[in-house]
Amino acid sequence: MIPRVRFAPSPTGYLHVGGARTALFNWLYARRAGGVFVLRIEDTDAERSSDAMVEGILDGLRWLGLAWDEGPKIGGEHGPYFQSQRFDRHRDVAARLVAERLAYYCYCTPEELSAKRAAAEQTTGGWKYDRTCCALTDREIASREEARMARAIRFRVPEGTTRFDDLVHGPIEFDHANIEDFVILRSDGLPTYQLSVVSDDVDMKITHVVRGDDHISNTPKQILIYRAMGAALPQFAHVPLILGPDKKRLSKRHGATSVMEYARGGYLPEAMTNFLALLGWSPGGDRELLTRDELVAAFALEGISGGNAVFNPEKLDWFNQQHLMRLAPDELALRVKPSFEAAGQWRDEFLGDRRAWFFSVLDLFRPRAKRLDDFAAQSRFFFVDTLEYDAAAVEKHLRATDMDEHLVALDAAFASLDTFDPVSIEAALRSVADARGVKAGSLIHAMRVAVTGKTVSPGLFDVLSLLGRARVRQRLAEARRVGATSAS
Ligand code: GLU
Repeated sequence: MIPRVRFAPSPTGYLHVGGARTALFNWLYARRAGGVFVLRIEDTDAERSSDAMVEGILDGLRWLGLAWDEGPKIGGEHGPYFQSQRFDRHRDVAARLVAERLAYYCYCTPEELSAKRAAAEQTTGGWKYDRTCCALTDREIASREEARMARAIRFRVPEGTTRFDDLVHGPIEFDHANIEDFVILRSDGLPTYQLSVVSDDVDMKITHVVRGDDHISNTPKQILIYRAMGAALPQFAHVPLILGPDKKRLSKRHGATSVMEYARGGYLPEAMTNFLALLGWSPGGDRELLTRDELVAAFALEGISGGNAVFNPEKLDWFNQQHLMRLAPDELALRVKPSFEAAGQWRDEFLGDRRAWFFSVLDLFRPRAKRLDDFAAQSRFFFVDTLEYDAAAVEKHLRATDMDEHLVALDAAFASLDTFDPVSIEAALRSVADARGVKAGSLIHAMRVAVTGKTVSPGLFDVLSLLGRARVRQRLAEARRVGATSAS
């Protein structure tokens, strides 16, 4: 039997990290097991769902690389994949359950129900549906039907218990005494979540239901519906909640919760999937850094832990940095291109004649970049004609005693080098420092300010070499002007 899993988001919001992790676990399981990953949009709440939200969810899944095998846009054998297009089928199931006396019409009005609930809450505290309509005779039902009275359909919950073996939490048991005869079809003809989800999962031949912990209490009701339909039960795996660093349920208070915000914020999908996979799952041992293929190879539902997982943004930054370090040069170039374009620093030759140079520049910043946009921001001095100088840096390093003369000497030394490579440049700078009786450090600081405008940069000799002799000499001249003017 081919495993079939599904991700079934309600399009009432963007794709948030919790949903993304559920989708990821489903996808990983399908890929690992040679199964099918179904995407079903549960757009039953017409008022809160929108096409824009659907598109947003699809964008998030695409960005993460979680391609679905059946679902919106691509279809499949078990469509439609929008739940709102499957209502007729849900109504058929409800009607069948009524015919088989596994469910019944309920004519109680909302007013009657809330009056009974209010009364019960004053005396005993809790209330569940008192089965008034379950006791109706066939004739009573017939007369109500004839009078076209509004009615819902309720599931007749039998006595006993429901037990299932959750792949994450182990055996879970519910006493039916605590489950009321729940509504499966509302009086307006709309199916409830419990009915739609089971009807669709049965029709779509879902073998494993992997979803959030918040659905555990729905599971016994759904199992009752499976049994009533005579359908085989899937396996259930309920994935624990994601908490913020303060151990409260992850929310916007903790920062971005939308996957696409991370996409726009310069995170790599590789890093995001690695990070999300490890929220509540572990490949065993202390392995943390995994490529997508490695995640697939190592994934098992049994490796999901029952305890809640903590979303630590610093850990995500760490994963991002690690994956940035590992990206192939041309891949990195493509990924940083949008932020270079946005900064006005892009030229097509960076993927053509100047690719070797451009890749070397990117490599220089890899150890320091946390996000994709850091590359364009930190390397800006490579791509501009006119530098902006940090005033404090100019004051401290370019206006140091005798610095102008030292810079003249450095310029001459650089001019006479055979090759302008990091080793030769360093040797030249150190011999100028020796000859002039100054610390190499002070020349290094001054040169850094001269060519970058700032006090922080990657290794100076690499920077100088990649800038090239002509530009370095130009900047030296400019730095001398800046050092000389307005020194007061
Ligand atoms: N549409 C439901 C939700 O977004 C999913 C239900 C399920 O996975 O069973 O919570």
